[in-house]
Amino acid sequence: MKDLLTVRNLTKSFDENGPVVDSLDFEVKEHEIFALLGPSGCGKTTCLRLISGFERADHGEVRIDGHLLESPDHHVAPQDRGIGFVFQDYALFPHLSVIDNVAFGLTDIPKHKRHVYAEEVLCRTGMGDYKDRNPSELSGGQQQRVALARAIAPKPKLVLLDEPFSNLDAMLRDSMRKEVRDILKKAGMSALLVTHDQEEALSFADRIAVMNDGHIEQVGTPEEVYYNPKTKFVAQFLGRTNIFHADANGSSEVNTNLGALRLNADAKGHVLCSIRPEHLTLEKPTNQKPEEVGTVLGREFKGHDITYHVKLSGEKYLVHTDNRVLFEPNDAVVIKPLESAVILEDED
Ligand code: ATP
Repeated sequence: MKDLLTVRNLTKSFDENGPVVDSLDFEVKEHEIFALLGPSGCGKTTCLRLISGFERADHGEVRIDGHLLESPDHHVAPQDRGIGFVFQDYALFPHLSVIDNVAFGLTDIPKHKRHVYAEEVLCRTGMGDYKDRNPSELSGGQQQRVALARAIAPKPKLVLLDEPFSNLDAMLRDSMRKEVRDILKKAGMSALLVTHDQEEALSFADRIAVMNDGHIEQVGTPEEVYYNPKTKFVAQFLGRTNIFHADANGSSEVNTNLGALRLNADAKGHVLCSIRPEHLTLEKPTNQKPEEVGTVLGREFKGHDITYHVKLSGEKYLVHTDNRVLFEPNDAVVIKPLESAVILEDED
């Protein structure tokens, strides 16, 4: 697929505290849903504001379809960038009806056709029956659909979504994510989502850039960043994990507290590793040596699965099993790896 949005060396500082967006490089392809994922304050919204034209860049550039939109000495106004925007609080015009909210940006269409087309787009987002209401007469999920209809109606090349699901309750959030993704995919639009919610990024996006402190740590598909994190930050931000050091001898197997463990690549020397709790399981001890037997410290029962906290050779491990693996606190257990551990870049 062709690159639609290209971001190169994008950098922005607000004060002497250094860049809040630091040399960002990524691209969003045509028809792709891409997420910028990171903790609060890591610079996601600032990046979105630089792409949409609400903020000026100190260094670097933003292009759509090869056309320069932003650089230190070039600035295309937000309304001329061909970008749609769905804000966290939806930002609907309170004094306009639903249909007028959507028709508002359709300046390229003759006036008499705007309402017909706006209604068509509202129907696509399931809001056709609500066209004459005011935004204050809608639920959060309905306002969300109108905001999306307004953003996609002018057929922008790219839609930016700034934490668009954060004001919805958990049940609605799940269904809206799926609906919005389906609408964007059917419309063949590219989208850039900003979120601090890893589950949202993993389930909504085709690819994810994981951000930390102004820079991107890793870009990949949800599966790549989850199963093959490159850094400790990515491993820990994407979900719970076990981090440990091991001494490798040039092969892809190491001896650890967990016994012989496979690695995702050959390695030599002291390496930092991560293994997800669901890639470990627990068994009853049989004839293991005492140092190979751990103790259950506690467990979190979640119905369909259980997370165990286990102490082994002075280290604590998380083990995530299905609900048929049943142990009690203080039980003696053996931790069995089910998958390879992943080698991380060691910053120490
Ligand atoms: P959140 O998830 O909480 O919205 P974020 O990752 O989107 O966070 P930004 O809103 O981009 O982060 O903010 C990054 C940093 O830049 C923060 O430390 C913030 O205080 C600072 N910042 C953002 N806008 C401005 C501004 N206009 N003036 C000064 N500092 C700012």
